Amino acid sequence: MKDGRAVSSPANGKLGGRPKESLDWIIMHQEGYRFECLRCGWSYSPKLPIGVNMMIACMESFKKDHKHCKEQKEKQDGLSN
Ligand SMILES: [Zn+2]
Repeated sequence: MKDGRAVSSPANGKLGGRPKESLDWIIMHQEGYRFECLRCGWSYSPKLPIGVNMMIACMESFKKDHKHCKEQKEKQDGLSN
């Protein structure tokens, strides 16, 4: 399928002048190429081998699903470093 439009420039949010979201709670593990959301605890590992386009699609989809996850605020007292 050709749509003639290369998606080369991502739409940067130019609303509040906020830099790129870090989304550092959405991570990927080396073993099993498992994605994990540290906020809700959901994880997903695509079946390998997988095409890179599919892999990227999986990542994007996982990212989209979890970018609005709220940080779980559990009271954990007594843990000090
Ligand atoms: Zn999540």
